[in-house]
Amino acid sequence: MTDLPFFGHLIDGVESSPDTGESFDTVDPWTREPWGRVALGGKAEADAAVAAARRAFDEGLWPRMGFAERGRLLNRLADLLEEHVDELASADSRDMGKPITQARHDVARSAQNFRFFADHAGLSTGETLPMDTGHHSYTRFDPAGVVSAIAPWNFPLMLETWKIAPALAWGNTVVLKPAEDTPASATIMARLALEAGLPPGVLNVVHGYGPDSAGQALTENPGVDRITFTGESGTGRIIAKAAAANLIPVSLELGGKGANIVFADADLDNAVSWSVQAIFRNAGQVCLAGSRLFVQRDIYDEFLDRFVAAAEAMVIGDPAEDGTEFGPLASEEHYTKVCGYLDLVETEGGRVRTGGRGEGWVVKPTVVTDLTDDSRLVREEIFGPVVAVLPFDTEREAVARANDTRYGLNAMIFTENLHRAHRVSAQLSAGTVWVNCFFIRDLRAPFGGVGDSGIGREGGNFSREFFTEPKAVVMQIDSGAE
Ligand code: NAD
Repeated sequence: MTDLPFFGHLIDGVESSPDTGESFDTVDPWTREPWGRVALGGKAEADAAVAAARRAFDEGLWPRMGFAERGRLLNRLADLLEEHVDELASADSRDMGKPITQARHDVARSAQNFRFFADHAGLSTGETLPMDTGHHSYTRFDPAGVVSAIAPWNFPLMLETWKIAPALAWGNTVVLKPAEDTPASATIMARLALEAGLPPGVLNVVHGYGPDSAGQALTENPGVDRITFTGESGTGRIIAKAAAANLIPVSLELGGKGANIVFADADLDNAVSWSVQAIFRNAGQVCLAGSRLFVQRDIYDEFLDRFVAAAEAMVIGDPAEDGTEFGPLASEEHYTKVCGYLDLVETEGGRVRTGGRGEGWVVKPTVVTDLTDDSRLVREEIFGPVVAVLPFDTEREAVARANDTRYGLNAMIFTENLHRAHRVSAQLSAGTVWVNCFFIRDLRAPFGGVGDSGIGREGGNFSREFFTEPKAVVMQIDSGAE
């Protein structure tokens, strides 16, 4: 036995204990030492969690509770997340090396996810469709049932709540499997959900791996009605097949290779500052990362100098310290993968302007130039702090090169020309286009990707469509007089 904190499964309102079942270590990527023990689930635990969620749904308390009462409980959970911000932020930060200030921001966003979807579901309206045939028709949005939510490790709590909040607000029950690298905050949240008053079985958490483990079982169990998945495109393909086998809807938020286009007429201070955030925030472990940075040739040299200087000014260090802006990569495996791309730079004719390997599992903010569009560094998702800066001449060329990717999650444009901003936004093949900014979200807006970046959209009414069964009711109206 160790004296490390333990994070159990939470199934049907009961947390598993360290003495039963298998467990694994969760490792702090800054110290490279284990900091917690985690229950290790497989098919048995996943099936038990689905059975608990199924029971909780079928018994009807949660789906029939009504928006007001469910909303009250979800708002209470949001309050508890805020009250436990230090514990939750520290869990995500220690699990994956995210700087603590960013982890605190993620907790605030997680609370906001619950508040937003509690309100949104409560205020949601259907349509009444008057018919001239002696009938009238209206729409209902009934909960879909049991939701499997499978999450990645880069924004653990924030992306988990992005799935759970709408699913619960619309009356579904949920089984969450957090990523194996970032399990802790999910257990803490599920404990708080019970404290907030969510009935047992409404929100279950199972820990484990993907293939041949809890993740796979959650995608294959016939008791599941929806799968919402965020992760790699390759995993998305496997999960889409599992969903097809059970003929259930699946929402896939997958990888990206975001184009960031800086035109010569951009406000340079603004463009440099957002472009640095776009690739180096969370050490580049962001699906939305602006990893292909196209810069118009007239300003290329000046932009590059300023961008490199800003990258070098980032404070790299212990994620637990408030002043740290940039930490290690999330795991040794991921560090090795990103270093593999650093090793490719020379082979592909590239030039590192700044960055490279740091201490431990740190890869410093790395700026690479002189690459061609067909190099692997430009085409593949590195998911780390490595950006390819690529000069371009014309708007048409920039759009064509930005769209020359199998991904299409997001793009950024920096320009002071209003016409160009609208024109280029329309032409970019991406789920989100940011103009003169990055990462700003309105939770009512659709979020998702084109091509290998995913299938479906979540956010606002898009989440409602996914997590409910939209239903048409057609009524005959008796036109006979009394
Ligand atoms: P991953 O696909 O390796 O794992 C994601 C989750 O899926 C984990 O919980 C994992 O255990 C589980 N999993 C793996 N194989 C599975 C299987 N066969 N069946 C069921 N579950 C399985 O992804 P990751 O490395 O955790 O996350 C990084 C990836 O996520 C990047 O590609 C990134 O772009 C993407 N991502 C996308 C978005 C988005 O909104 N589009 C957001 C964040 C991250």
